[in-house]
Amino acid sequence: MFYEEKCTLCGECLMKCHYLAYPENKAKEEFQKLINGEPSPVTSECITCAACNMYCPEGANPFDLINVRQEETGTFKFAKRILKMFDMGTKTPSKIIKGEPDKPVMNLCLFGDMLPGVFEGQLYDGLTFLKGGDYFCWIGMVHTGRPSLVNKINIQRFVDNLAATEADEIILFHDDCYATLVNKVKEFDISLPFKPIHIIEYLRDYVKEHQDQVNKLNIKIAYQQPCASRYTFEKDKILDELFELIGAERVKRKYDKESALCCGGIQAAMENVSAEEENSWRMKNLMDAKEAGAEAYIFLCPLCIMGNRGRAKAQGMEPYILSNLVRVALGEELTHGGAGKKLD
Ligand code: SF4
Ligand code: SF4
Repeated sequence: MFYEEKCTLCGECLMKCHYLAYPENKAKEEFQKLINGEPSPVTSECITCAACNMYCPEGANPFDLINVRQEETGTFKFAKRILKMFDMGTKTPSKIIKGEPDKPVMNLCLFGDMLPGVFEGQLYDGLTFLKGGDYFCWIGMVHTGRPSLVNKINIQRFVDNLAATEADEIILFHDDCYATLVNKVKEFDISLPFKPIHIIEYLRDYVKEHQDQVNKLNIKIAYQQPCASRYTFEKDKILDELFELIGAERVKRKYDKESALCCGGIQAAMENVSAEEENSWRMKNLMDAKEAGAEAYIFLCPLCIMGNRGRAKAQGMEPYILSNLVRVALGEELTHGGAGKKLD
């Protein structure tokens, strides 16, 4: 939610944005237009990465206003076929795969079947898995330019479906689900009858409890932060703790943490962004990692890894979904490689 009363019209949001990078005067003028509901190029140029919610020094949530204006004006052009995929995703048949009663419950959202070989090994042994449309968290709809779908009814239904498991704690594999449950619920005054646990926290705690099994990797890695992490950035400290526990050194690079870039997946779906432009942003990000000395490229979000694993590999950086990197540190063999697909 945008908090107009907090906004001082400083323009920082549109100045710091990697994709718009407006000069100060233009940034202030265009943001004023957005507040007034007047046409602004921001609504078609913004790629919905949500980073400016973090850039704003006042906590006013500028992206939430931009996103509302994108929907009102219809100027954010998202490819229709990808819109359809998003909408079909919400209707994916749901399934509960029962595990052992004393083991945790994990929500896989829509991603249970997209990454073969990922949900294997001791980290996932005996867990109960939830997957499908009933467990879709809706926040991803901001990237389609339709924030009205991230509403009280949809989020309450998501929470109720999770609560029906009667679990005290639910691990969220997808960063978006955690962002919905920890951040978005506050806007709608929805309370949770269970504790949401981020996959990063689960992995950190698991590694701490099994330290005797860990062979430190002594590897330099770069991390692809998902856009949804902008809503719950505080967990980044836990991620750094996890990397340290497994001997993965997160290289210092330009496009990380507050300054992270989107993986390129949103631009791929935007009709006004050419394939060349999309690729050039993806490569800027990857080359930044490579030049900082990364030997492996680590992903949290399945969509980020599917769009970039081949490119990372081609630049000599082995792609891993985060839990697979942890499995290697625990001495496990990966049946489908680090990226949920064997790459040449
Ligand atoms: S959401 Fe991202 S692309 Fe859009 S204005 Fe904010 S920082 Fe820029
Ligand atoms: S939303 Fe925040 S960063 Fe943007 S103009 Fe207002 S106060 Fe400045």
